[in-house]
Amino acid sequence: MTERLEGKKGLVVGIANEHSIAWGCAKAFQAEGAKVAITYLNDKAKPHVQPLAEQVKAPIFLPLDVQNETQMEAVFNTIKTQWGELDFLLHSIAFAPKEDLYGRVTDCSRDGFLTAMDISCYSFIKMARLAEPLMKKGGCMVTTSYYGGEQVIEHYGVMGPVKAALEGAVKYLAYELGASGIRVNTLSPGPILTRAAGGIAGFDSLIAEARHKAPCHDVPTIDDVGAMAAFLVSDQARHITGNISYIDCGYHIMG
Ligand code: NAP
Repeated sequence: MTERLEGKKGLVVGIANEHSIAWGCAKAFQAEGAKVAITYLNDKAKPHVQPLAEQVKAPIFLPLDVQNETQMEAVFNTIKTQWGELDFLLHSIAFAPKEDLYGRVTDCSRDGFLTAMDISCYSFIKMARLAEPLMKKGGCMVTTSYYGGEQVIEHYGVMGPVKAALEGAVKYLAYELGASGIRVNTLSPGPILTRAAGGIAGFDSLIAEARHKAPCHDVPTIDDVGAMAAFLVSDQARHITGNISYIDCGYHIMG
């Protein structure tokens, strides 16, 4: 049987370690036949990400701090030179300064808010712009949000409005790029213990509450998210765009 993603080439941004949601997705993409380019934040992150990139035989492995314009352009130029095209990209990053994340949204600093928006939201728009000319035959762009962007989740703080903006950006990108055959979608996983999640106060109780309240009484794994991401970037999802895919055991339907 032909693999669902055979012949496809994708960029995965947001692997910190083997617990990252982006790693669950990279494994699924590769298992279904895709070639994946992988980035790492900086020299500190590199030794944790490199063995994972080797595991999925990533032909492109480059540093990318999304606030660094030169690195961002280098990633897309390398893809252009080596592959000439791109079929999909996964954006799975978020950051907010601790002092702004832990406080009330009411009190967050302008700098903290702008940094969180820049790294967690604007970077997806920038990637979309750089990827568009490489998606000549169409393609799919996927980002990662959380229910705290739609409804108030205690302790999610400034990331709530940032995720709301990200989900809004997805809709506008989907609208603007649809005519070029490019689909843009959001993954919305339930709580998973990752490095970024560890920065949210009371995350253990958030997981316990999600497990208790969700109709399936469970929480997802990074492999569950990977399975949905692999479907979304496949041709089977060719009519799915501007969508939020919840991988949250049904938590979002509960009032
Ligand atoms: P993670 O493993 O910590 O991944 C977050 C990634 O963002 C890390 O690789 C981090 O790099 C990277 N990053 C931070 N600043 C960056 C920058 N300036 N440039 C490039 N990369 C940067 O955590 P995760 O939970 O998988 O998070 C991935 C996405 O899923 C995030 O958007 C998060 O909000 C979303 N999400 C998570 C959950 C959850 O419960 N875990 C639920 C819903 C949505 P370093 O770690 O090397 O600093």
